[in-house]
Amino acid sequence: MIIKEVKAKHILNESKVYDYVVNPYTGCQHGCTYCYARFMKRFTGHQERWGEFVDVKINAPALLSAEIIKKKRGRVWVSGVCDPYQPLEEKYELTRRCLEILRRHSWPAIIQTRSPLVLRDMDVIREAEAFEVGFTVTTADDGVRRIFEPKAPPIEDRIKALERLHLAGIRTYAMIAPVLPGAENLPELLAPNVDYVIVDRLNYHYGDWVYKKYGLEDKRSDSFFHEMGRLLSSKFRSFNVSCRIIF
Ligand code: SF4
Repeated sequence: MIIKEVKAKHILNESKVYDYVVNPYTGCQHGCTYCYARFMKRFTGHQERWGEFVDVKINAPALLSAEIIKKKRGRVWVSGVCDPYQPLEEKYELTRRCLEILRRHSWPAIIQTRSPLVLRDMDVIREAEAFEVGFTVTTADDGVRRIFEPKAPPIEDRIKALERLHLAGIRTYAMIAPVLPGAENLPELLAPNVDYVIVDRLNYHYGDWVYKKYGLEDKRSDSFFHEMGRLLSSKFRSFNVSCRIIF
C-alpha cells in the first residue's frame, strides 16, 4: 500500500448526485473488485492497482473552511470516489474535521461508507442539523462479500453500526449497490435499522473476472437484476421501508 500525503487544489466540488461532493482521500484501501472509482487512476497518474494506493489530502479541512464561505449552501456527499471511513481515517481524521466544518456552517451532509469507523464521529453527526449516514451493503452473505469486497468490513459489522446510528436518532439509509448474490436476504437485516433504501444494479465490468472465477455469471444478467429488484422492493414494502430501485 503506497500512502502519500498530498495537498489538493479543491475539496468542495460540484456533483451530479448531490449538490457537492467531498473526497478527503484519492484511492481507497477497501479496493472492492467492482469499484467504479478506479477511473480516478486516469486523472491522478497512479500506476498502482486500485486499492494499493491512497493520496491523503492533508489540507482538506483547511480548503473546506475556505471554500464553504464562498459557495451557495447545498447537500454534500461524503464521499463519492473513496470510502471516507477507510482505515487511514482513524489516524488522519480528515473526514471528521470536514464534518465538523459542515456542521458549524449548518450544511447538510450525506455520509456514505462501508465502515463502522463512522461510529467514532457520532457526536459530530448527532449534533448536526441535517446529517444522514448510509451504509453500502451489497449482500447478506459474508462469503460473497469476501470474494467481492475482501478488504471491506464484514456485513454483520455494517448492520450493527447502522443499528447503533438509527437507535441514536440519526437518519440512516442503506445503499444496495451493486446488487450481489445473496442480496435477497437483506430486507430482514436492514429494515429495522434504516429510514430508506436505494438499490442499483451493477453497471460496469471491472468485477467480471470475479463472477467468472466463481461461476456466478448468471448473477449479473438482466433477468437476475430485475427479479432481485422486484423481490427487494416487495420485501421492503412489507416492512414499510421506502425502497428506490434505480435500474
Ligand atoms: S469502498 Fe467504495 S470507493 Fe472504496 S473500493 Fe469499495 S466501492 Fe470503491
